[in-house]
Amino acid sequence: MLTIDIIKAKQLKDKPDPNNLGFGNYFTDHMFVMDYQEGMGWHNPRVKPYEDLHLDPSAVVFHYGQEMFEGLKAYRRQDGEINLFRPDMNGKRLNNTNDRICMPQIPVEDFVQAVRTLVHTDASWVPEEAGTSLYIRPFVIATEPTLMVNPSKSYLFMIILSPVGAYYKEGLNPVRIYVEDTYVRASKGGVGEAKTGGSYGASMIAQKNAKNEGFAQVLWLDAIEHRYVEEVGTMNIFFKIRGKVYTPALSGSILPGITRDSVISLLKSWDIPIYEERISMDTIIEASKNGDLEEVFGTGTAAVISPVGGIHFKGLDFVVHNNEIGPITRRIYDTLTGMQYGNVKDDFGWIETIEDKNDHGWL
Ligand SMILES: *Cc1c(COP(=O)(O)O)cnc(C)c1O
Repeated sequence: MLTIDIIKAKQLKDKPDPNNLGFGNYFTDHMFVMDYQEGMGWHNPRVKPYEDLHLDPSAVVFHYGQEMFEGLKAYRRQDGEINLFRPDMNGKRLNNTNDRICMPQIPVEDFVQAVRTLVHTDASWVPEEAGTSLYIRPFVIATEPTLMVNPSKSYLFMIILSPVGAYYKEGLNPVRIYVEDTYVRASKGGVGEAKTGGSYGASMIAQKNAKNEGFAQVLWLDAIEHRYVEEVGTMNIFFKIRGKVYTPALSGSILPGITRDSVISLLKSWDIPIYEERISMDTIIEASKNGDLEEVFGTGTAAVISPVGGIHFKGLDFVVHNNEIGPITRRIYDTLTGMQYGNVKDDFGWIETIEDKNDHGWL
């Protein structure tokens, strides 16, 4: 249990138009900060006014990318309270990432307490409009001032909050994805299963090229044979072929999504066959040609579920389900978002509620 100091902002910001939020454009009045120093451990957990950081230009994070981040959301329920979705899973994944890049562990209870305390402080920033939410961005950076290539002796753990709009303004729309067969995102033994900044910097070129060609996302293939499906942009991927659902097994180069894990549990609870295995592009294309590729969708916190309506591979286009959202895709989306906003019963113990007694409202 942390003892968190709360230093309130003297002046609160004007809130943006809740119908025009976009993603990650606005930040709330407060942020969470905790320091780490070798020999002292984590100390001085505090909520304080949102402001610039002061860091030495030689801080390790700027040069060697010793950094990690997480992402989750707070959802406004109809009764005015606030829901979090499986925040303990983000805490566990943070520690797996931290292990991989030699950063110190943060107890999962402390992580969840920090998230809850900050969201509670800025509760008035959780928007109410349909499909909106408060995006929560925890991150850890290496702050030691040195150009030595060694794990830093000091770190900052921070959380910032950003009210975000509905991912699909005109409802759930299928996207077209580009199968990348030149660049790779991650290889076994690398950092693909860690949520660390370097992977994203390295992936931007493929994302940029795909966008220029009119595609929403990149579908990554394995780094060795460029044959097996890995994941899409910042989402995991699922394929429904002849009534069975497949998703790539967590092989070491794939980010273990919390939405992915939740979708697998839901499908199992509905007795829909779900297989975690290696899936080749040959299998996908053959299924598409035979009319057996019934549904394709991506999963991730930002969009929850993103139906895929078209796949572009080596110059050829494959249309999925007539470019319409499929029934399983729709059912998963409705169930998960229903749980998150508190309209569908949670039989899994995934939802944590934060009371918002103040009921300040958006303005
Ligand atoms: C965060 C992320 C995901 C999705 O994870 P969720 O926990 O479901 O949000 C998938 N792939 C990559 C590369 C990611 O960074």
